[in-house]
Amino acid sequence: MASKEFNPFEMAQAQFDKVAEILNLEEATRHLLRNPLREYHFSIPVKMDDGTTKVFRGFRVQHNDSRGPCKGGIRFHPQETVDTVRALAMWMTWKCAVVNIPLGGGKGGVICDPHHLSMQEQEHICRGFVRQLAKNVGPLNDVPAPDVMTNAQHMLWMLDEFEAISGAKYPGFITGKPVGMGGSLGRTEATGYGVIFTVREALKELGIRPEDTTAAIQGFGNVAQYAIELYVKLGGKVICVSSWDQGDQCSYTFRRKTGIDLHELLKITDKFGGIDKVKAKELGYEVLDGEAWIEQDVDILLPCALENQVRGDNVNKISKRVKIIAEGANGPTTPEADKVIHERGIFVIPDFLANAGGVTCSYFEQVQCNMNYYWERDEVLSKLDVKMTSAYLAVSELARKRNLYMRDAAYVISVSRVAQACKDRGWV
Ligand code: GLU
Repeated sequence: MASKEFNPFEMAQAQFDKVAEILNLEEATRHLLRNPLREYHFSIPVKMDDGTTKVFRGFRVQHNDSRGPCKGGIRFHPQETVDTVRALAMWMTWKCAVVNIPLGGGKGGVICDPHHLSMQEQEHICRGFVRQLAKNVGPLNDVPAPDVMTNAQHMLWMLDEFEAISGAKYPGFITGKPVGMGGSLGRTEATGYGVIFTVREALKELGIRPEDTTAAIQGFGNVAQYAIELYVKLGGKVICVSSWDQGDQCSYTFRRKTGIDLHELLKITDKFGGIDKVKAKELGYEVLDGEAWIEQDVDILLPCALENQVRGDNVNKISKRVKIIAEGANGPTTPEADKVIHERGIFVIPDFLANAGGVTCSYFEQVQCNMNYYWERDEVLSKLDVKMTSAYLAVSELARKRNLYMRDAAYVISVSRVAQACKDRGWV
């Protein structure tokens, strides 16, 4: 979240400026791409269950649509800020470009805390969000999706509202819908699995067998859970996860050095990914400080929670053994920490490449909706693997050829694709 010390939009702009220099972009292109094309700020009045009315603040930012309709999730978070949404919208543009899908970048957010909202109140927020935006989003200009603390049910309410306003069926308005209601099989798993497809390729490149590796994971939400599932299937061992404790308003790390058991932990986890401390202890987990995940003696670190997690003040806690950091979250590493990681020679799979599986599957969902013909799960996941693997290989080849840091190589590919599209359209 944005704070006085950390502004994710400034960070996204600084990352962009660095690549604009490498690519020697023209001034007008820089100006266009370092800011969103459009943004909407609005209020959502909601009748609460107790009869009072509460007004929530919402945002939708459309960063760039030169390669296709804007695409990106909607987050529900009590500390949401427009600068966080701006950064995330910009990262969506690069994410869609790096996997070469015909979509631009957008993001939405509502300042609210679903922990304290009934399902009915959440439904009102979803419908109110769409009412404020219906004229400015849609299958052909901006397509929302789930993100932090939103899921398939929220998407369905939003779809229903959009269709009621439009007077027709528009399954392509939103992705991440429930399966059977226009959703794609594999969408729930897609982001976490996508992270591990890229980790698998990085391990191949480094000549390391997954069976010989261990990992520490930050987060236990949708991305982390499916990343764990696939990594363990490949033979890896996860020794800890961290999760947010709503009661204590802080996170804890749950460690079991012999390996965590995903299914056992899921049984004691709430729908927001919060693990029950007491029950975890009974199952033999050590309950450590929330930041302990970063200092574990493992081969792979997977930050799969929020932005601003690997910073100047904790980057030096990363163990000498760590060889790969795969960023499942958006923007988990600050530029200060990134510099240290680069200098230490740790192999980074940057966020907008590592976590592009979600939006790639959203794109498959749109394709299936347009055909009104739905693929089997295996077909979706194998297509996802092909897209993620080829995007990874293009980035790592460029990094090797031009001796670039992986993050810079991914940026070079994405930014040049988007800059070219703007130029081809005659915008700059
Ligand atoms: N919210 C996901 C992301 O940050 C997915 C976006 C989408 O499917 O449009 O990549």
